[in-house]
Amino acid sequence: MYMPDFEYHAPGTMAEACKLLAELGGKAVILAGGTDVLHKMKQGKMTPEHLVSLKNLDELRSIRYEAGRGVVIGSLATHNNLYTSELLQNKYLSIPMAAHSMASNQIRNMGTVGGNIVNGVPSADLPPILIALNSTIRLVSASGERSMALEEFFHGSAQTAIAPGEILADITIPDQAATGSTYMKFGLRRSGALAVAGVAVTVIIDGDIVRGARIVLSSAAPTVMRARDAEESLKNKKVSEKLLADAGAMAAASSRPRDSIRGSAEYRRNLVEVLTKRALDRAITKGHS
Ligand SMILES: Cc1cc2nc3c(=O)[nH]c(=O)nc-3n(C[C@H](O)[C@H](O)[C@H](O)COP(=O)(O)OP(=O)(O)OC[C@H]3O[C@@H](n4cnc5c(N)ncnc54)[C@H](O)[C@@H]3O)c2cc1C
Repeated sequence: MYMPDFEYHAPGTMAEACKLLAELGGKAVILAGGTDVLHKMKQGKMTPEHLVSLKNLDELRSIRYEAGRGVVIGSLATHNNLYTSELLQNKYLSIPMAAHSMASNQIRNMGTVGGNIVNGVPSADLPPILIALNSTIRLVSASGERSMALEEFFHGSAQTAIAPGEILADITIPDQAATGSTYMKFGLRRSGALAVAGVAVTVIIDGDIVRGARIVLSSAAPTVMRARDAEESLKNKKVSEKLLADAGAMAAASSRPRDSIRGSAEYRRNLVEVLTKRALDRAITKGHS
């Protein structure tokens, strides 16, 4: 497994990085933590002539709160940065927990939230909880910047809305009414395994009434997806075992999983049903967890 030849660039500013990407066009690939890019290059699945590393763009590393905007996570924040962020632990513990559910410590030290999103794979662990929390993303290029709901970014397996030359700069979690959120996944090992199926939820609880819910599934369709019928079924209803079980069954019915080496479609559908019920119960009883 030899690395093919390539030219390495490490621009010092966002403006330089955007200019370079515009000049190099399709010959360049962005490098963040490299856990996917370098692996694919070694396997010969990717042969870029140029790698443009974002490692010197320190402004993309911060995790901060901005009044009027919400929690802003720079795209270069690693999974372990998310896990150890006091801000996230205090506000949305579900994100550090999702980050900690991934891979090994070595991969969590290198892999970034930006790479996890831009990869666009349906088993990625961070998009579901970020979508459940209604996040938006900011994409920057030589021709300007644009923002969109993270939910709209994913078009299919490994297909996203990112345009050539665009850098995912940051992710914003707006201030919100959700009283609880959580991400639950099932992997073939207790830790360090990709999700056979995963479910992220947010809930707005008022006494014992569900005022709103968002349910987002991973590894349950060609791309991360909302289970909207299940969400609707919970609105303004009193919390009960049956209500949550019915929502789980509806989420499973709306999923479109595939058979793969990690699990059959039927197995995944069963997992979605169980995980949705459990995740709703945890978000209702334990808040952001
Ligand atoms: C052994 C192993 C285990 C893994 N386990 C898991 C797991 O349990 N759960 C999981 O979800 N993933 C897992 N992964 C996948 C991977 O580690 C993560 O998706 C990681 O977050 C990718 O981030 P990165 O910074 O390493 O991306 P890179 O490899 O640097 O980049 C990935 C892709 O995103 C693009 N990109 C990266 N950052 C940006 C940006 N800011 N703007 C625009 N484009 C960008 C790159 O050009 C490339 O196409 C695993 C990988 C390995 C090798």
